[in-house]
Amino acid sequence: MYTVFAWEAYASGFPGCERMFGLFSAAEALKARGMRVTPQRIAVYNVLKATDDHPSVETVYERVRSDCPSISLNTVYTTLCKMAEIGLIRPIDAGDGLCRYDGNPHPHAHVVCTSCRRVEDLDVRIDLDEKEAASRSDYTIDDVAVYFYGKCADCRKLSNRSIRSI
Ligand SMILES: [Zn+2]
Ligand SMILES: [Zn+2]
Repeated sequence: MYTVFAWEAYASGFPGCERMFGLFSAAEALKARGMRVTPQRIAVYNVLKATDDHPSVETVYERVRSDCPSISLNTVYTTLCKMAEIGLIRPIDAGDGLCRYDGNPHPHAHVVCTSCRRVEDLDVRIDLDEKEAASRSDYTIDDVAVYFYGKCADCRKLSNRSIRSI
């Protein structure tokens, strides 16, 4: 069985391994995955690790410029692509066509607001059978992503207000 679970549950299941990974500096994390360490890569990685709002490439670019004013959007884009390729970060598809990333590379569920496209981590446990998925599809299964879609509290408040004002 393949299980999507909360980050805390994952970390506690692998004491001394994932918890230690959390203590790694950005440079150590990059080195551990065979990625050359540059100040720009460290800055991009730190921006992503400092947040859980699943930012787009453009948002990472805006945030990283305070540390690296000379960095280009293209460098941020290629750095994030490369980090996702080697499993250091995770790509997020919120259905808005933006390229978003998650600093937590471990499988966990997300909830997406269909109005403002906010993406949040969701602490739910879902059992998915990767062997069954593999046998039914004749694919090898490398990963799984679970998204729940709905309206966030802020957007519900806004739509209630606009209904009342009609
Ligand atoms: Zn919303
Ligand atoms: Zn996440």
